[in-house]
Amino acid sequence: MQRQTAELTAVVLGAAAGGGFPQWNCGCALCNLARSGDPRARPATQASVAVSGNGTGWVIVGASPDLRQQILQTPQLWPQAEGRHSPIASVVLVGGDVDALAGLLVLRERQAFTVYAPAPLLDLLRANPIFGVLNPEVVRLEPIRPQQPVDCGAGLRLTLLEMPGKVPLYMEEPGAGSAEPGPTYAARLQAGARTIVVAPACANIDGDVRRQLHGADAVFFDGTLFTDDEMIAAGLGIKTGHRMGHVPVSGPGGSLELLAGLPGRRILMHINNTNPILLSDSAERRQVEAAGVEVAYDGMEVRL
Ligand SMILES: [Zn+2]
Repeated sequence: MQRQTAELTAVVLGAAAGGGFPQWNCGCALCNLARSGDPRARPATQASVAVSGNGTGWVIVGASPDLRQQILQTPQLWPQAEGRHSPIASVVLVGGDVDALAGLLVLRERQAFTVYAPAPLLDLLRANPIFGVLNPEVVRLEPIRPQQPVDCGAGLRLTLLEMPGKVPLYMEEPGAGSAEPGPTYAARLQAGARTIVVAPACANIDGDVRRQLHGADAVFFDGTLFTDDEMIAAGLGIKTGHRMGHVPVSGPGGSLELLAGLPGRRILMHINNTNPILLSDSAERRQVEAAGVEVAYDGMEVRL
């Protein structure tokens, strides 16, 4: 019998990297195009994906500072009952940077949900008193460990995956010359026979990364920069992508090479506002699409 409904649905809440697109203080060519309303440069909020395994409840991967706006523009995440209600069952944290967890602060209205995160990220929340706005009587903080699956609500089974990363920017030692390796994570979510992986940050593609993505029906992967020295070349920064904990899209060892070799839907997300793949008619976008890889946008729905 033909399957009538999807087993697993993912909605991209935010496709952009930290700062969003356009970034508030960025006057680069791409940000200016986006600000001018040019249809080739569609604005995007900061990285987050909502996933459902039952069509009613949702799990949010990545709590971006834009989460309030993202919920407002996603009807699936609106209250489904009178009075106070939210279909958001849980939030999964996969990184400690501001763009990956500050969104928790907008969920502070005494609404019950669970935060699933590796212990170091929960420690970070507990060490910062401002996150106390999440009332512990209603918001559960649940530690998860790599490769140990848990039921996270919304009909989904969650497995935390470890990714090569670096410590969050605000925790770097002053004057550190090289990227300090640190924990960053991806989330594998499974409903029935369907699996997706959400991996917004990956500093280096090694055998472990390849193995962890193997068998997923859809992969959302780090598409921060097209070239490693993009920020430097644009005169907008002094750090390479590797230094920021992100493997570039292009070139040997890049994410495009990885994704081109995988089956299923492959989608670049966490895209920095300097990345020319944000421009729908750029040569770089064509190169990505020719490899069978998609570029995420806010509101993109993937049904499996
Ligand atoms: Zn810009």
